[in-house]
Amino acid sequence: MASSTVFFCKECGYESAKWLGKCPGCNSWNSFVEEKINKKASKTSTR
Ligand SMILES: [Zn+2]
Repeated sequence: MASSTVFFCKECGYESAKWLGKCPGCNSWNSFVEEKINKKASKTSTR
């Protein structure tokens, strides 16, 4: 199992798998915030 963490730019909503100092979407510095995502039974059929 893997707990995923993504980073969102709070300025434009740009999503990245890792933290970026500068957003390539809106060129804002330090605008990324960490967001934890819990994927729960999306595509896997558990039986
Ligand atoms: Zn941005």
